[in-house]
Formats: sequence, structure tokens, C-alpha cells
Amino acid sequence: MSDRPDLTAHLDEATPFAAASTLPYALPDFAAVRPEHYLPAFEAGMAEHRAQVAAITADPEPATEENTLVALERAGRLLTRVALEFFNRTSAHTSPELDAVEAEVAPRLAAHRDAIYLDPALAARLDALDARVSAGEVVLGPDAAWLLHTLRKDVRRAGVALPEEAKAELRELNGRITTLETSFGQALLAETNDAALLVTDEAELEGLAPESVAAARAAAAGRGHETGWLLELQLYSQQPALAALRRRDVRERLHLASVTRGLRGGEHDTRALLLELARLRARRARLLGYAHHAAYVAVDGTARTTEAVNAMLGRLAPAAVANARKEAAALEQALRAEEPGATLEAWDWSLYAERVRQERFALDDALLRPYLELERVLRDGVFFAAERLYGLTFARREDLHGYHPDVRVYEVFDADSSGLGLFLVDFYQRESKHRGAWMNEIVAQNRLLGERPVIMNNHNIPKPPAGEPTLLTWDEVETLFHEFGHALHGLLSDVRFPSQSGTEVPRDFVEFPSQVNEIWALDPEVLGRYAVHHETGEPMPAEWVEKLVVSQLWGEGFKTTEYLAAAILDQAWHQRTEDELPRDVAEVEAFEQRALEEAGIAFAPVPPRYRSTYFQHIFAGGYSAGYYGYIWSEVLDADTVEWFRENGGLRRENGDAFRRLLLSRGGSMDVMDAFRELRGRDPEIGPLLTRRGLDAPAD
Ligand SMILES: [Zn+2]
Repeated sequence: MSDRPDLTAHLDEATPFAAASTLPYALPDFAAVRPEHYLPAFEAGMAEHRAQVAAITADPEPATEENTLVALERAGRLLTRVALEFFNRTSAHTSPELDAVEAEVAPRLAAHRDAIYLDPALAARLDALDARVSAGEVVLGPDAAWLLHTLRKDVRRAGVALPEEAKAELRELNGRITTLETSFGQALLAETNDAALLVTDEAELEGLAPESVAAARAAAAGRGHETGWLLELQLYSQQPALAALRRRDVRERLHLASVTRGLRGGEHDTRALLLELARLRARRARLLGYAHHAAYVAVDGTARTTEAVNAMLGRLAPAAVANARKEAAALEQALRAEEPGATLEAWDWSLYAERVRQERFALDDALLRPYLELERVLRDGVFFAAERLYGLTFARREDLHGYHPDVRVYEVFDADSSGLGLFLVDFYQRESKHRGAWMNEIVAQNRLLGERPVIMNNHNIPKPPAGEPTLLTWDEVETLFHEFGHALHGLLSDVRFPSQSGTEVPRDFVEFPSQVNEIWALDPEVLGRYAVHHETGEPMPAEWVEKLVVSQLWGEGFKTTEYLAAAILDQAWHQRTEDELPRDVAEVEAFEQRALEEAGIAFAPVPPRYRSTYFQHIFAGGYSAGYYGYIWSEVLDADTVEWFRENGGLRRENGDAFRRLLLSRGGSMDVMDAFRELRGRDPEIGPLLTRRGLDAPAD
């Protein structure tokens, strides 16, 4: 670089991103950010980052840990600051202005990454450091050695060794793919809002709990309907209201609204986007020397190969469908008691599953919900379990604010009362929020820069009218614990390097800690504290608690089948060469159906958890060819749950061991080595098969 630019010259010093926030824990000053701040901050951040990396690679001094690895980790702070704040906001509270910024910035970020990773100078610098390590001239600590290993792998995977012509094509592909992913996410949110079912006759809501009717009325009012009730859609296929709606025709309408999202034609149709995405990803994988995109993804995970992925999915699918068929037979019987001769359809499943659960276990969601009030579940369930396991305590900080009035900020204290970080949570569904539930880092823990974690959980719980309590379904309770498990991974991270913080682990490993945290929802001590009637204060009757535990296996056929079907669709789209993929939007549904049939998982009453046209994880998010990771990491999860059981369950000693050996280490080492240290051996699949009811002989 001949002249070193003044890096923040064109970034107004008054903008909130110019320097780290001075609020506690560097929480962004959300209220100070205006949409027009983002683009200049991104531009200045990218320029700063490129200049810093160029200075590192041009350094005439021999490569060392400090002047190469540490310097790379210190670089790009402005860009990190703006990107974490921005993408948290576009996922949780977007607007047309923010959508426009995202569409502009996403491909430029892809180009920025390519400018760094495809530059042979960086690869050469890393190779030089590696050579010095091999020669014994430089000694790296374990985290730095792992960082060097992953960086060298990342530049190779990016295509640094390819000829210039191929690199040019890669750059173009990366930009276009990023643009398509952004478009898919934006179209899907608009489509999901559009597809909500407006009911104008209250009689059609028969069966729905009063609090759900009130929430549907509030949702309609929120969208400007003077009368009527709006049944808004969750991201997945099976909508919660289907478990309660008595009118079969209304259930059918709601179900069809859900599963036809993205393929109805019109401006929010997602088929053309996903077809092009699948094709371009296949072409990119080919350029990089892989048979297809799924192979490119698998090699970077703990699975390593698509053969291993297919073997796992193929092993589970037949047993799961057999279980789902058994469940379907029981449901159809219940259906026919009311509708003689009727055939069980997908829109009947939830209602009659609840009916049969009620018959067999005298338990259903409607009975449970008054005992599952949000504030108690959070305080006396989610937070309580974290206190028992890790010694953490939580205090609401009313003086700190999020980007929306619904966002709450909690300060998290460690066992010795020192401040550990901030936990932000945003529970409610709204039009501006993408569907689903997820965790974001807003500040990633790292010792190098002395940063403490600021971690966010987002949910999509229907908001009750003002003043009413939020009563949860059992699924929502599990989701609270799940997402908080990701939050703990971020909050308890104790690593030196930002890029190894918390959830910066392989995609097919990242669900492991969050799934482990789900088990505390059913722990008798935890459940006993939070499952309390919101009006009477009575604890949930002991026999219900018992039943809740034993009824967990009921419905596993459905859950496993709908999950596996989605994982198989993801692999089908991504285990193809460009030529093997359909080109016409009219072929999308047939492709999907064929993939499910070939895998032996096509079963009409149980559609995939996400159909291709609303599969946000793989076409808008970062899970492309990686959705299998949930069940892959559930092997570790179920095996770890056994470990907790063997060692006495909810105890500080266990929490501390899990924290020390696993959560605190983030991605600072080979995560499977961390698992083996915890468990004392390789993972075993038995506990997963038992949990999901897949080890019993089919009858
Ligand atoms: Zn998760």
C-alpha cells in the first residue's frame, strides 16, 4: 500500500458505529442507529479491514503468532460491529429501508470476503508461518495452532489455489448466491405474512383456546383489520392452531396456506430463487473440485462425507416412518369416531394426536398451557436451571434497551458475582420479524480484545393482548430452553480469539449444546418450580408431570419423520450436479416428491417440517446441506444426557464440567476431542435411538 488511507475519513464520527459503544458490555446504542448509518459504516469497515489485512500480508518481518494470527484477529473491528448489529436487526425487526441496505450490502460483503481469502498473499503468509512452526522456529499454543489450521483450510476452501479465470467466476458466483439468499429470506417473510389466514366468522375458530382467539384478534387489529381473526403462520409446516381447531374445513385451509407458501405464483414465489441457488451452489462446488455442494459442506463438518450423512439419514428413516404409520393408524381411528370413513390428512394430524394423547395420558396442550406462563418459565425454569448448573444469576436492566420495546436486557453474573455478559431476549412474533427462533451474538466474547459477550435470543410467540399473560405450548417451552442453550454457549465462552468464540463451531456440532439444554425443561426439580398455574399459583399436579415425561415418546414418529424429510430434501437439492437439477419452476414440487419417495420417507399425512419453498434454513440461512446437523449433533446430545444422568443430573459439579470441557472452549480446538474429553470415549448412537423410539422392533 503506497498511501495508507485515513480509514474512517468518510465515516462521520458522530455515527454510532465509529467507535465501540460506551454502554455497559459495549451493548450497541440501538436507538442512535438510523438506516442511513449502515452503508457508510459497512464501506468504511470493509476498507479498514482490507487495509489491515494487506498490512499483515505485506509485513517484511518473518511471520509470527503476533504479527499474523493475532493481527488478523484484531483486524476488522468496525466491520464486525456494524455487521453483528445490522444482521441481528434485519432478522428481528426489518423494514423496507433495511431490506434495501441488505440487498445492497450482502453481495459486497461476499466480494469483501473473496478479496481477502482469494488473495494468494494471505495464503502465502499463513504457509510461511506454518513452515516456521514445522521448523521449530515458532511455537504456537493450542488455540493459535488450531486457528492457523482452520485459516489455512478456509483459504483453500475459498479457492485460493485456483487459476485466475476460475477465481473470477467464483467471485461472481459468491456475489450472486448471496444476493439470492437475501432475496429468498425477504420474499419468504413477505409471503408468510401474506399467507396468514383471516377468519371472519368466530364460529370457525371453535376449539381454539380463549387466549389464542384473543391473540388472533390482536394480530388482525395489528394489521389493520377492523374485524376478524388472523391466524399467523409459523415457519414450519404444521401450524400450532391445527392442534385445536375443530372445524375440518378451517384446518384444511390453514394447512394449505402453510404448505403452499412460496409456490403460489406472484411476486413472493420463491421457486425461481431456490432453483437458481441450487444450480449456482452446484457449479461453485464443481469449480472447487467437489462432486456437489453437499460434499463441499460435509467435509467441513464433523461428518466429513455425504456418505456418512446418507448412512445416518438412511438408518433412521425407515424406523421413523414405521413409527409415524403406527401413530397414523391410532389417529385415523380417533378421526373416524367423529367422521366415519374419513381418511387421515395432514391437517388432521395435530388435533387427533392431541386427542389420542389425551386418551392415553389424560394430558394435552390446552390443559398444560395455564401452567406454562412465560415469566415463570423464564425465571424459574430457564434461568433457574442455569443457576443450578453454572451458578449464573440474572438481573433485568431496565436502563438498557434493545431495538424494539419488546426486547428485554438482562445482566448475567457469574458464580462469584462478577459480571459475565448481557442476555437480550425478544419473545414475540410481529410482521417485521423473520419466523423461527434463533440466537445471535451481538458482541462475541474474546480475551484478546477484552470483550464480554452480548447474546440475543429471538422467538416467534404470538403476542397476547396488553395486560394478558403469555401462556406457552410445550413446544414453545422446549424452544425457550433450546435457544438459551445456544445463548449459554456464547455467554460461557472463554477463549482468546474472536473467531473461536462460543458457537463458532462446525455446523453439525452447533446444535449439540442447545439440545442438551432442552432436557432441563423436564427435570423434576426445574419443572416443579416453573410449572405453576398462572392464576391460582398451584403447582402442576404431580401425576401430570409424570405423564408429561412418559408421554414424550408419543409423537416421536411424527417429529422424526417430518425432520428427516426436511433433512433429506436439503441433501437432495445439494447432492446434485448442475445438470441433474430441474430448471423450470413447475418441476420443483415433482423434484421434492421424488426425493422423498426415493428416500422412503414420503408419507402424505406427515409433510416435511419445511418444504423447499419455505426452507429458510437452507435457502436463506447458513444451513445449506447442513440441516442434517440437528440429528447429527443429537447423537452427542443424547449421549451427553446419559452422562448427566450417570453423574447425578442437575448439579453444579456437572454444569462446571460441561462448561469447562465444552461450552467455554467454543471453537478453539477440534470439538470432537472436547466431546471425548467430557464423555471419556467416542459418541454412541444408542441413547438417541432410545429417545426417539427407533430401537424398538417394529410391530
Ligand atoms: Zn438451535
